[in-house]
Amino acid sequence: MKRSLPTIALVLVLTAAALGAERFPPPEFTNHVLPTTTTPAPRSVVADMVYIGALAVALALAALFVHVLRSRVAIVVLAIVSLGYFGWFYGGCLCPVGAVQNVAQALGGGAVLPVLVVVVFLLPLIVAIFVGRAFCAGVCPLGAIQDLVVIHPLRVPSWLDGSLRLLPYAYLGLAVLAAATGSAYLICEYDPFLGLFRLAGPLTIVIAGLSLLAIGTIIARPYCRWLCPYGLMLSWASRFSQRRVKIAPTQCVNCRLCEDACPVGAIQTPNSGRPVPRHQGRGALAATLVLLPVLVAAGAWGGKLLAPTLARLDATVRLAEQLDAEASGAAAGTTEASDAFRATARPVKDLQKDAAALREKFLLGSTLLGAFMGLTVGGKLVSLCRRTTRTTYEADKALCLACGRCLKYCPVGRGAAETALGGAAT
Ligand code: SF4
Ligand code: SF4
Repeated sequence: MKRSLPTIALVLVLTAAALGAERFPPPEFTNHVLPTTTTPAPRSVVADMVYIGALAVALALAALFVHVLRSRVAIVVLAIVSLGYFGWFYGGCLCPVGAVQNVAQALGGGAVLPVLVVVVFLLPLIVAIFVGRAFCAGVCPLGAIQDLVVIHPLRVPSWLDGSLRLLPYAYLGLAVLAAATGSAYLICEYDPFLGLFRLAGPLTIVIAGLSLLAIGTIIARPYCRWLCPYGLMLSWASRFSQRRVKIAPTQCVNCRLCEDACPVGAIQTPNSGRPVPRHQGRGALAATLVLLPVLVAAGAWGGKLLAPTLARLDATVRLAEQLDAEASGAAAGTTEASDAFRATARPVKDLQKDAAALREKFLLGSTLLGAFMGLTVGGKLVSLCRRTTRTTYEADKALCLACGRCLKYCPVGRGAAETALGGAAT
C-alpha cells in the first residue's frame, strides 16, 4: 500500500490539473462571432497573362500614338484607359515601378523572383531602349493621373529642376537598399497615389497624393520628374533609344513653341544657350574629372556615417534597440513589439544576432549608396561641361515623358500629324 501511495498522489494531482480547466471556463463574449480565417487565393496564370498582354498592348499603342500618329488626343485617351485599368481595376499593383523592389530583394538573396515580376519589370525598360519612355506617355497609372490634372504648368528654373532631379537617385538607392536587406518596400509604402487607386490607406498618404495632384495642376508631374525611381531607370534606358519624340518631322524652324509647350522642361535648345570657348570647356572638364573620385569617396564616407540611421528602416534592428533600451532603463516603457517579442520566449541573444547581421548589410549598402550619390553628382557636373553643337529644338531623350503636347504646337509637325491621321483613317 505504501508503495502505491506516490502513484495515487500523482493521479490525483493530474486529475486536479485536468479539472482545473473546468474551474476557469473560457469567458463568454456576447454577440461575438469568431472571424473565419481567410487566405488570399494565389493569382491565376491566366490573370497574369492578361496583365502582361494588356501591358504589352498599351506600350505598343503608346509608341504608335507618339511616333507614328503623333496624336496628343490618342495619348490622353490611352492615359484615361490605363488609369482605369492599371490604376483602379488593379489597385495600382503589380506595377513596374514597385517591381524594382522585388528585383532588388531577389538579388539580395531574400526572395524568389516570379516570372511575372521579371516580365513586368523589364518590358517597359526594353521598350524604352527602342522608342523612349512610352510607359510614361500614357501607360503608367501614376504618370497618367498626374498628366490629366495639368492645367497651367509653370516653368521651373533650370537650376532648381536640375537639383531636384537628383532626388530619384537617392530614392532609388534607398529603396533598393531597404528591399535588398528585406527591410521594407519603401516605394509601395510611400506611393502617394496608391491610396487614391485603392480608395483606402493611411490618411497621410492619401493627403500626400491629393497634395501632389493639387501641385501638379501648375507644376507638371512632380512625382515623375523628381521622385520616381523607375522613371529614372527608364531615362537611362531611353538614352540608348534610336528614336526620340520628333517634334518637327522635317526641318525645325526654331519658333520655340515646343519649348513653351513642354510642361516638364524636356526640350533641348540650340547650343543649350551655353557657347563656351574650347579651352575653358576643357579646363572645366579636367577639373571635374579630378573632383570625381573625391566626390565618390566623400559620398561613401557620408553613407557609412548614415548606416546606423538607415539600419533603423528594419523592424528587427528597431526592436533590438528597443529591447536594449528597456534593459538599460533608457526606454520610457515597453512597446507592443517588445511585449509581443517577450511573449514568444525567443532568446534576446538570437534577435541581437539577427540585428547585428542586418547592421553589417546596411553598413556595406549605405557606403555603396553614398559612393553612388557622389558618382551621380560628379557625373552631372561632367555633363554640364560637355560642349553641344545643337542647331534645332529637340526633345531630350532621357527627360521627355512622351506626353505629346509639343507635337500639337509645332507648326511643322501639325501638318505631318494630320497627314498621318488622314492616312490612318483611309
Ligand atoms: S516617371 Fe515613374 S511615375 Fe511617372 S510615368 Fe514614368 S514610371 Fe510612371
Ligand atoms: S513629348 Fe516630351 S518634349 Fe514634348 S511636351 Fe511632352 S515631355 Fe515635353
